[in-house]
Parts: sequence; C-alpha cells; structure tokens
Amino acid sequence: MITTLYWMTHDLRLDDNPALVRAAWSNRLLCVFCVDPRWFSAHRYHVSSMGDHRWQFLQQSLDNLNQQLKPLKQHVLIEFGYPEQQLAALVVKRGITRLVCSRQFGSDERAVLDSLAKRLPALKIEEVDTYTLFDLKDLPVGLEETRSSFSGFRRKAEQYPVPMPLEAPHTLPASLVDPAQSSFPDKLPEWAPASANDASLFGGGETTAKIHLKKYFSGDLPRHYKDVRNELDGWENSSKMSAWLNQGCLSARRLKLTLDQYETNHGANESTQWLFVELLWREYFQWLALEIGKQLYRFKGMAGRCPLTCVHPERYQKWCNGTTPFPLVNACMRQLKQTGYLSNRGRQIAASCFVNELGLDWRYGAAWFEHQLIDYDVAVNWGNWQYIAGVGVDPRGGRHFDLDKQTELYDADGSYRARWAPGVTDSVLDSVDAADWPIA
Ligand SMILES: Cc1cc2nc3c(=O)[nH]c(=O)nc-3n(C[C@H](O)[C@H](O)[C@H](O)COP(=O)(O)OP(=O)(O)OC[C@H]3O[C@@H](n4cnc5c(N)ncnc54)[C@H](O)[C@@H]3O)c2cc1C
Repeated sequence: MITTLYWMTHDLRLDDNPALVRAAWSNRLLCVFCVDPRWFSAHRYHVSSMGDHRWQFLQQSLDNLNQQLKPLKQHVLIEFGYPEQQLAALVVKRGITRLVCSRQFGSDERAVLDSLAKRLPALKIEEVDTYTLFDLKDLPVGLEETRSSFSGFRRKAEQYPVPMPLEAPHTLPASLVDPAQSSFPDKLPEWAPASANDASLFGGGETTAKIHLKKYFSGDLPRHYKDVRNELDGWENSSKMSAWLNQGCLSARRLKLTLDQYETNHGANESTQWLFVELLWREYFQWLALEIGKQLYRFKGMAGRCPLTCVHPERYQKWCNGTTPFPLVNACMRQLKQTGYLSNRGRQIAASCFVNELGLDWRYGAAWFEHQLIDYDVAVNWGNWQYIAGVGVDPRGGRHFDLDKQTELYDADGSYRARWAPGVTDSVLDSVDAADWPIA
C-alpha cells in the first residue's frame, strides 16, 4: 500500500501539473499546503516576506484549487505552521511512505526538504519539475554554465524543444482526510493577518488564470508586445501572466504552447518571439538560483563585487513610501504599494534609484519588493536586483537609469506621475541633524 503526501507550494493547479500526476501513482493521496509563520514575521531586512497583495492572491488560489479538486473527491489540507514540523507530523500520524513536491528553487524551501530527509530517512522524497519550461535532467545547458551569462543559455534554449503540457487528471486516489478540514478556517492563527479583501487587478486561482490566458491571446496584443512592453502603465502593455505563473496557477509550458499556437494561427513576429525571450529570462533565473544557492542573497552577489553603500534609514523610508525627490520613482513606489504590481521598466527605474541615487544596500530593496510584489519569485527578484546592483551575472556591471531621460521617454506628458503620485512634493533627500549628518 502506497500512501503519498503531495506537498503543494508554487503549483496550485490541475492543468499541466506533473507533480500531481506523479503523486497520483498511489493508493491513497494527501494534498497539503503549509502556511509558514516565517512569511509574516519581519526578518533581517525589517519587513516580512508576505505582504497583503500576495497573501490575498494566495488565499484565492487555494480556495479555487479546492473547488477544482472537489469533483475528483480530493482537496488540499491547509496546515498553519512550520512546514518541516507539520509535514513530519503528518507523515508519522498518517503512515505516509512517499512525499512528492515541485522542485524548490529558494534556499528556505530546500532547507525544509533537507530537514525532512534527515528526520525521516525512510520517507521517499520525489521532486518534480512543474515550475519551469525544462526539466532539470534535460536542460539545454549544464547547470554550471548558467553562471557565465544569459545569452549563452538563451542561444541554446531557443533551439531546444519545450516538453508538451500534460492534461489535468480525470481521477485521483482517495484522500486520507475529511474534506471538511480543507477550506480556509474562519479564524486564522494570530500570526496570520486577515485578508485585505481588496479589489485587486489580479484574481488568484487557476480558473482566472485560464480566462486571462485566453483573453490575452484572443486578439492583437501579443503581436504588439515588444512595442509597448516598456510602458509604465496600462494593463494591456505586457502579458500580466507573472502572478499566475509564480503561484503556479498557470504553467510556463501551457503559456509557451499557447504562444506557439498563436504564432501558427497569426504568424510569428518580433513581438511574439520577444515574449518567449522574456519567459527564457524567468527560466534562466530559476536554474541560476539552483546553481548558486545562497549566493543569491549575498551582499557581494555572485560576482563577488562589493558595492559602495551606506546606512540611510530616512532614504530607505522615503523610497518605500514614494516621497523621494524623484517624482517618477515616487509614482512607481506608490503604484507598487497600492496594487502589488509594477511594470518591468518601473521596477528597473525604482531599483536603479535605490542603488545609484540613494546609495543603499540592494538587499533591502529586494526585500521590500519581496514583501510588496503580488508576483514575487525568489530567483527572478533577487536575480534582477543583483543585476541592477552590478553584483550579478551582467558582464557590463550594473545598470544606472538616468531618471530625467526615463521621465522624458516614458512619462513625457506627466500622466503616470499624476495618476500615482499626485501632489507629492517632498524634495529633500536627507534631513540634516545637529551634527550635520549626513554631510551633503
Ligand atoms: C528589480 C526587479 C525585480 C523583479 N522581481 C520580479 C519578481 O519577483 N517576480 C517576477 O515574476 N518578475 C520580476 N521581475 C521581472 C519583471 O519585471 C516581471 O516579470 C514583469 O514585469 C511581470 O509582468 P508581465 O507578466 O506583464 O511581464 P511580460 O513582460 O508580459 O513578460 C512575460 C513573462 O516573462 C517573464 N519576465 C518578464 N520580464 C522578466 C525579467 N526581467 N526577468 C525575468 N523574467 C521576466 C515573467 O514571467 C513574465 O510574466 C523583476 C524585475 C526587476 C527589474
């Protein structure tokens, strides 16, 4: 008798879910999602990992997943606690022999698996690739090659066949627990904040992801993607797939296949091809993160270069709240705080200002993005921050965006600033104390 625990993480879907298919080779199946208290406590960067936007999106995604699983007589058990403890307790209590999960790219999640393997040596642990286009065992390049540059990876990956997505399963093994235990409890533990219930641009869950995917590819938008992807605002100016991709409500392979079908029906052009290149950036950062491990969070980055920074709490606060002397940056930071989303160009501008104009330690900026972003992804976020701070894979060594030029190029008529930061006038970067610190 095989009893399997499927530890669900960034794979909250039925469609193209190879981990679910693998987990279903079992007599009994227990699907579990752990809400980790560490997500909500401020860590060394003085901010928690999980902000309101992503927390709401996650709850919606879990609710939707349970609705999808109902006709298959399955459900996800939602556990509140440290995953290494909750999972270990379930394994013992329920006589679990095998644990299946998606491949984990963040070091905290990898540590959970290491801890389980140590505590429960008889437990068979299987990691399955569900988050990426390629499988680890069949990558276009050796893992260590990701250290040199994106372009080498891209050249090979563009020629490499992406596996076809799998259909959603029609049947699943019987569950080990009562379905009544599976919904979100009315009363959350004290450490888990109540959901904000904001009207978000993004609705969590596989059902919404499918609707969004269909809509984006039903018209002309993909054919013009490259012309407009750098715009600061506007729902239709980029695909807006990231939140669903990163919570696993949509698979990267399903997105790629939809793009291929679109190209077959409407013809490929530079824009459709560029969308694939951006997906390859996402892919690249995952494998790079796996290769470099904790170097992803190191001040000197993977390049081992030491940036020049200083501790400036006031500047940090002003950046987070959008009250710097730089109106374009203020608009970006306020949009991020209000919606949990910021365009790629907006992220680049805000990050460049943090590192270059404000001279702050890039890791604090990355941590703030981690807290705010609805589409937060550990590898992509910290990888992009390293890149801009000049400590990552970029052979050119960092990025400094000229704020006047960016304003002229992307907000010449001032509409973006007027929308997100109307009337914000704080123009002093540092207040000077009695000892004249900081010296101008
Ligand atoms: C400092 C910084 C931090 C970032 N943090 C994140 C993050 O935590 N999570 C995240 O998903 N993206 C992050 N990005 C990348 C990018 O900004 C977002 O993926 C993109 O804005 C999401 O919107 P979209 O889905 O409309 O993107 P589109 O332009 O439509 O692109 C399609 C997909 O390609 C991928 N992609 C696009 N741009 C990038 C990029 N620069 N790097 C890697 N993959 C990319 C995303 O999966 C995206 O959904 C960050 C970029 C910067 C500069």
